[in-house]
This record gives sequence, structure tokens and C-alpha cells, in this order.
Amino acid sequence: MSNLDSMQRFTFDNTDVRGELVGLHKSLSDVLSKHEYPEALKIELGKLMAASALMSATLKYEGRLCLQVRLPGDVTLIQAETTNTGDIRAIARYDESKKIEEVELIGGQLVITLEPAVGKPYQGVVPLDSNQLNESLEYYFSQSEQLGSRFWLECDGTVASGFMLQQLPSSAENDVDAWDRLSHLASTLKREELLTLDNPTILHRLYHEEEVRLYDLEPLRFACTCSKERIGNAIQQVGFEELMDVIAEQGKVSVDCQFCLQHYSFNKEQVTNLFPEKKLH
Ligand SMILES: [Zn+2]
Repeated sequence: MSNLDSMQRFTFDNTDVRGELVGLHKSLSDVLSKHEYPEALKIELGKLMAASALMSATLKYEGRLCLQVRLPGDVTLIQAETTNTGDIRAIARYDESKKIEEVELIGGQLVITLEPAVGKPYQGVVPLDSNQLNESLEYYFSQSEQLGSRFWLECDGTVASGFMLQQLPSSAENDVDAWDRLSHLASTLKREELLTLDNPTILHRLYHEEEVRLYDLEPLRFACTCSKERIGNAIQQVGFEELMDVIAEQGKVSVDCQFCLQHYSFNKEQVTNLFPEKKLH
């Protein structure tokens, strides 16, 4: 397995279809080391990380792509984010008093947020009608971009792998045969193969009769985008009076970033600075 913690684009000569392969190992274990997640949740988290990396390849600007799975059951949230430079982070929230044997996705929502470094974020929401995350991602692309897309996502708790095929905008009408052929071949890929084979071997196994062009590997790593400023923006939502109550009791407001466990603390002056209108009085 030579392609872990990286992403790699491929295209087919004479065909308007492109693909991406992703493999996560250390970046996944870095995420999993921050919390004691149940096994079933680790697997869904790994798949969502792979999906966010694959989708970040479609970003056309500096920024990040965030995938949120919001659920009504004992697991309430699974979230993964990847920036255009390959920084990836993820988190899950669940009822720790419950035994989580499986993660039921049906009945939840998949929220896709494209966050450019400059400009307004774009958000799309699709219902989770299936326990297979890839089907909801495919539905999202067919609705929002009118592009045929196929996703294969696997995770064994240690390695997460993903495979994406996507029609290029120009191909949607005129190259249906190639799209059908390439996506049918991809569907013959077995779980073990996606988790264990390197990218050239996977592509040779599927497409040895096609002209495939493989691009450079793009590294991925766990990295958190938290900062005192961002955490400050988040605690503002709590409200000035409530934060002052905490300061009166504890002398400071303490917050740990849930993604990386970095500790942040705000004294009375720092909290007051978050509320410019309060300083005037
Ligand atoms: Zn952090």
C-alpha cells in the first residue's frame, strides 16, 4: 500500500470522465486518537473523511469542503473537512452512555458546505434515504451539478479508502456509453482491493483496456484549523451575560477544540473584547 494519506487524480484519454483515489491511514489514526469512538462509528467516520477528501478535489478555489451527517439517534453528528491544500480533520458526537453497535444513517441529513477562504459559503442539504453514504453523495451531485458521479468508500477502522468517478460537464450528453462502461468496471472492485491495493494496481485491474492517465500524488494530513479567533467567534454565540457568569464562578472561560483537543482560555478582558458594543459602556 504505497498511496496512503494521499489523493490522486486520473483521467481517461478521449473520454470526458475523471476520477480520484484516496487512501487514509495516519491521518485517520490521528483523528481517532483524540476520542474513544465505538468501532462502528470509527468506520463511518473514516468513510466520511475519505468522501470529504474526494470531494475537496472538486474545489476550484482556496477554501475547504465540510461534510456533516446529522442523525436523530444515539449518534448525532459525524463531520469531516478537507481543505484544498490537503488538511483534513473530523469529529463525531454520540451518546457515550449507549452501546453503539451500528450507525443508522436513514432518517438523517447530509449537509455539504463549500467554504471559500474569501466569499460566501455555499450549503447543500440532501436527505439520507439509504445507509450507504455514497448513494447520498451521488444524489447530491446529480441534483446540484447535474453531473453523473459514483463513489466507493471503505474503512476497516485502520485504513479508509475512496474511489470517485465523475462526468466532466461537457460529457453529460454525448458520452453516455463511456460513462456506463467505466462506472460498471469500477463497480467490480472489491472492498479488500480498494483497502489494500495501490492506485496503479487498482487502475490496471479495472481499466487495463483503457488509456488511463495518472496524475501526481497529493498528500493529505490531519491538521486542525482552530485558532483563538475562531474559538472566540464560537463562544460569542453563548452570550455576554452567560460568559460573565462563567468568569465570576471560574475566573476564566475554558474551551477545548473538539477536533484536536487544543486548550483555549479567555479571561475577563478577552471575553469583553469579543463584544465591542459592551466596551463602550
Ligand atoms: Zn483544533
